[in-house]
Amino acid sequence: MAQFLKKLQSLHIKLVVIYVLLIIIGMQIIGLYFTNNLEKKLTYNFEQTINTQIKSINYDLKNVYRQNKDDKTAIQKEVQKIVDEYAVRSNIDVIRFINTDEKIIATNKDSNQGTINPKVNDSQIQNSLSLGKTNDRIQLKDEPTRKVRVWVKNFPIKDSNKIIGVIHIEESIEPVYEQLNDINKIFIIGTGVSLLITIILGFFISRTITKPISDMRNQAIEMSKGNYTNRVKVYGNDEIGELAVTFNNLSKRVQEAQANTESEKRRLDSVITYMSDGVIATDRRGRVRIVNEMALRMLDMNKDEVEGRHVLDILNIEEHYSLDELQDIAGGIIIDMNETEKLIVRASFRTIIQDTGFITGYIAVLHDVTEQHHVENERREFVANVSHELRTPLTSMRSYIEALEEGAWQDEKLAPQFLSVTREETDRMIRLVNDLLQLSKMDNTDDHLNKELIDFNMFIHKIINRFEMSEGKNATFIRDIPKNGIFVEIDPDKMTQVFDNVISNALKYSKGKKKVEFHVKQNTLFNRMTIQIKDNGIGIPLTKVDKIFDRFFRVDKARTRKMGGTGLGLAISKEIVEAHNGRIWANSKEGYGTSVYITLPCEVLDDGDWDV
Ligand code: ADP
Repeated sequence: MAQFLKKLQSLHIKLVVIYVLLIIIGMQIIGLYFTNNLEKKLTYNFEQTINTQIKSINYDLKNVYRQNKDDKTAIQKEVQKIVDEYAVRSNIDVIRFINTDEKIIATNKDSNQGTINPKVNDSQIQNSLSLGKTNDRIQLKDEPTRKVRVWVKNFPIKDSNKIIGVIHIEESIEPVYEQLNDINKIFIIGTGVSLLITIILGFFISRTITKPISDMRNQAIEMSKGNYTNRVKVYGNDEIGELAVTFNNLSKRVQEAQANTESEKRRLDSVITYMSDGVIATDRRGRVRIVNEMALRMLDMNKDEVEGRHVLDILNIEEHYSLDELQDIAGGIIIDMNETEKLIVRASFRTIIQDTGFITGYIAVLHDVTEQHHVENERREFVANVSHELRTPLTSMRSYIEALEEGAWQDEKLAPQFLSVTREETDRMIRLVNDLLQLSKMDNTDDHLNKELIDFNMFIHKIINRFEMSEGKNATFIRDIPKNGIFVEIDPDKMTQVFDNVISNALKYSKGKKKVEFHVKQNTLFNRMTIQIKDNGIGIPLTKVDKIFDRFFRVDKARTRKMGGTGLGLAISKEIVEAHNGRIWANSKEGYGTSVYITLPCEVLDDGDWDV
């Protein structure tokens, strides 16, 4: 139904309806003019016929009166004869003669004969008699089946300006109207037929106008759906043809513009997608519309979870900031995104404003500053640690010096003791500063390695020998070292420092009888060698094993400091081993001992020579 109504409203139907209406109106005007004139003409003819009859009756009646003078009976007889004669000759229904006494003295046969001689009481007749003027009218007369229109005329008969009577005539004018009706019928049928033909023709002719327009309409609908490839057919050189050409040009332009926008969008999309920073674009209410991969990774969410939600909600900062406030914070804000994985980002917010000043949305750029943050924290911690480490010996030195000042220098027993503590503390400070200097050098990569290709087994034997000599019977050293040489390219001084530190730790943090084991292994497949240095000392709690390589970390601060440790030895060792592309780590069981492992890349000089 709706479809049908829509079809009725189409331009095609409208055009047909308009000109059909125009034709109907035209026909109506022509019809009205035509029938009006025709009616006038036919009535005039009808009247003329009667008038001709009346003229001739007038003549005859005058003669009758002249010839019969005052003989009323003869006059009546003669008049009746004339009346009958005219009634037969013409189509006149009623023809009567009324004398000056207002009496009907003659009437035709068909009309009522009984009306002879009575006085008439028709005002029109009386009028005509008294004034001597013709009058006529059309009046309705009842017939058995219908009412008919009758033309009634009263005509005064004068002889030498003296009225002798009135001729009263009645004739049905219905045939005139019937004729008019017939003509009208023909006219209506003609109009109907011509309308039918013009409607059919109109459908086809108006198609020539509506077809190109409906083509353009269909193409416009396609364009609104994003299909710009089709072109409309140009049917001619008229205005519609020109419109079609312009329309085709327009759709070509739009297609090109669309293609440009698309490629720009794709370019922008790929830039946003592959950006190392996270990007979140929102609408003007702050709801997320576009989000790139990196932002999703930082948020640890998928696209569906993020899209449509408020940007401050997904960043978990809606309680602290509003979008307007964030615009004013230069450099953005630091957000701790993922506490377990320690992800810290700097989020900068910008507003997208149209030329009109209308805000269309916001852009949030998330920059990963975890590393930077970590480095800054480390630096702060390092400075705090260094200050603390330096202050401890300095405070102790100061209290001893104060004691000496206050008179202890005179005490022969105490003075040397105090001085030796002060010297020990100074030594510790020197060691600490040396360690710090070395670390700083390594951090700045100023410290180049002087690598040499050496036999690692010989190298480690030498170090162990040195410790054996110095420890004597205090410690046992067990060597599980292959006989064949393992060749490594290392800086011997630096690596000696590493092993000195690890071995002295193994001896320092001992328990009962000191025992240090050395297990050396080579993996030819990966060109690497590993050394395990195992002690039977106090061990390290499981949670702290990995931290012993951090700067200033000590498991038991009081005890370590007493032993003269700086907490930097293993941190330096780690730096040196890593500078050799090696790795250092530890395994420990509290109360049972610690194993420190060091792997280094090694050279395989000749596969056949080595017994692994
Ligand atoms: P320090 O100069 O204090 O020894 P290190 O960096 O060499 O500094 O060691 C860091 C900390 O690791 C030490 O303070 C100690 O608590 C722990 N540690 C290192 N080696 C061992 C070991 N073999 N047994 C037990 N604890 C150890």
